[in-house]
Amino acid sequence: MTTTLPAYDEVVARYEPVIGLETHVELGTNTKMFCGCPTDFGGEPNTRVCPVCLGLPGSLPVANKAAIEATIRIGLALNCSIAEWCRFARKNYFYPDMPKNFQISQYDEPLCVDGYLDVEVNGEMVRIGIERVHLEEDTGKTLHVGGATGRIHGATESLVDYNRAGIPLVEIVTKPIPGIGALAPEVARAYVTELRDVLRSLGVSDVRMEEGSLRCDVNTSLNLPGVEWGTRTETKNVNSLRSVERAVRSEMLRQAAVLDAGGRITQETRHFHEDTGDTTPGRSKETATDYRYFPEPDLVPLAPDPAWVAELKAALPELPRLHRRRLQEAWGLSDLDMQSVLNAGAVELIEQTVAAGTSPSAARKWWLGELSRRANETGVELADVGATPTQVAELQGLVDAGKLNDKLARTVLEGVVAGEGSPTEIMTNRGLEVVSDTGALAAAVDEAIAANPEIADKIRSGKVAAAGALVGAVMKTTRGQADAKTVRELILERLGA
Ligand SMILES: [Zn+2]
Repeated sequence: MTTTLPAYDEVVARYEPVIGLETHVELGTNTKMFCGCPTDFGGEPNTRVCPVCLGLPGSLPVANKAAIEATIRIGLALNCSIAEWCRFARKNYFYPDMPKNFQISQYDEPLCVDGYLDVEVNGEMVRIGIERVHLEEDTGKTLHVGGATGRIHGATESLVDYNRAGIPLVEIVTKPIPGIGALAPEVARAYVTELRDVLRSLGVSDVRMEEGSLRCDVNTSLNLPGVEWGTRTETKNVNSLRSVERAVRSEMLRQAAVLDAGGRITQETRHFHEDTGDTTPGRSKETATDYRYFPEPDLVPLAPDPAWVAELKAALPELPRLHRRRLQEAWGLSDLDMQSVLNAGAVELIEQTVAAGTSPSAARKWWLGELSRRANETGVELADVGATPTQVAELQGLVDAGKLNDKLARTVLEGVVAGEGSPTEIMTNRGLEVVSDTGALAAAVDEAIAANPEIADKIRSGKVAAAGALVGAVMKTTRGQADAKTVRELILERLGA
């Protein structure tokens, strides 16, 4: 079915979007949530399992203290209240990658409630309410094989890997976010970005969206101004920051087209497709009662000691927003300059480049210039563009040492991004080093003088500004590799100026 989608501007002029985000974070604990199995990513299928995480009869779970501690720290960093007493609950449903036929989760007694996270969008602060932060266990993974798409439709068989089953998973749910109008897609992205930075600063997870340790579901609805919120859809497992933004936007356009045609939005889950940027329907959404939640009888209630919680709170690291403010001062940037660094997703990259010995201005120039341009062209995140902070620092080191000029450095950087090796290797292998040896440059200088007698005469008569044209000629014959300063000195020396 093809429908013509309305223009985004028209949609936000007529409808008000409300979004909400549910984020799942795999904690980086050494062992699983309720057993001692290791949690490392990868590994041969079904090698990191035991009777507990396989749900074998008679096995009993024991809660992982490190996971509870990490969840409380997340809650505190998100300004939540920490429950003095709460319980785990069984969420009952069947799915092949869930061996017990229930998931141990939290239902009406989450560990952390009622917080907020401030995010900056276009220089404006938006406060995102946090409904709850709770702890649960991850499911295994199902692999559908034999089909073209890797989805269950068309597959000839399905394989299940339980290595992931039982890995501690924290779910962070926002309150509905109304009143953001056309900014909805950007707010969604800014929130997930900020949340990821907070989680990383806490050291609780490696927050890698591409490996699934940070997964995001996006709720979207539209309503006409002055009427109740519309029916929402839930777009599942959106696995990059860029996709978060695209998924909200695409769902707003789709819902507007349905509503414009007099249709109704079905409450359902939808799948986001990276390739086309649109969503297709999944299953119709269950309600909480379908899961028959009840308190988990095999686990004692959680009652974190308030003194321990206070200790954890006092030991929280500097949060990203404050950290960024400190960096901005250290780098001497205006709010606007800092905003462009943020928009480019370059804060950490610049920070690491500076830590490797580059000046803040040079680090910023590379990441916001050449590398951002490249990331935009190829549609990848700046961090995945193919150059690392260490490589950029090495490149700038070669510029500072006079071995590369700006133009040659850009060529070397292209090689780095193409995976040809380190900047020094590329410079050497491709013979890109600046030539400043006067002996090697003399012939080119003489040639330029001989080819431009009128300019040479001008210089001889004292018009040294004319030397620029001869420097340009030498740069051309040496394919940009001559050291311009040395060339200029040679020319003036030859012509006695
Ligand atoms: Zn286990």
